[in-house]
Amino acid sequence: MKLVLLGPPGAGKGTQANLLKELFDIAHISTGDILREEMKNQTLLGKEIKKFVESGALVPDEVVTKIIENRLTHGAGISKGFMLDGFPRTRTQAEDLDKILITNKNSIDYAIYFKSTLSVIIQRLTGRRVCRKCGALFHAVNKPPKKPGACDICSGELYQRSDDNEETIKNRIAIYEKSTQPIIEYYKKQGKLIKVDADKDADFVKSHLMEVFNKDGKLDTDKVERRS
Ligand code: AMP
Repeated sequence: MKLVLLGPPGAGKGTQANLLKELFDIAHISTGDILREEMKNQTLLGKEIKKFVESGALVPDEVVTKIIENRLTHGAGISKGFMLDGFPRTRTQAEDLDKILITNKNSIDYAIYFKSTLSVIIQRLTGRRVCRKCGALFHAVNKPPKKPGACDICSGELYQRSDDNEETIKNRIAIYEKSTQPIIEYYKKQGKLIKVDADKDADFVKSHLMEVFNKDGKLDTDKVERRS
């Protein structure tokens, strides 16, 4: 299964990615996570991209596309497929992704579009907390950890992303609308788009996706039953 997750920051892509990863046993490739790791490790690339990421601007196309190309061509753990989270974000990235996949005799199965409204996004992002150790997601109000500041899963420290403040969020959304929204049409034309109402809670979104995959014969129903 090869998926692209599209939608504004805070639309719930990361939450669904965790569910889909387990369901299809596929790799979760998040360009945002990869870039933050580079910044954390203060690599040459990390230092170069810091100003873009911290202001909510897009990192240049050729930088992110190279990262994805390397991961899809030489990376491990993608034999059953992958899910791209936060890539592509521009028309150029979408076209380059198709070229990379064609070279590897591959193509995307679905692009899932998480449609969400501004007020919901701001509420979600300003309250988002992430585990420094395992990446689990929490929310100060909607999904607080059992012990304040600590991850329920691994006890790691929870932190707030530096770009999850209201000003940067508004900038990220404006950029999203200008650069990323057009690629929704790109996937629609290819007949690959699944649109979900991402203002609804995670269970609703998950059920919608399961329905679509089931209808298309993409689900191992035994596995879904075992999980529920
Ligand atoms: P995210 O975690 O997906 O919200 O990404 C965080 C930040 O990383 C974005 O605001 C951008 O600065 C950068 N970034 C992530 N993915 C991309 C991409 N595909 N193209 C350009 N910049 C990206």
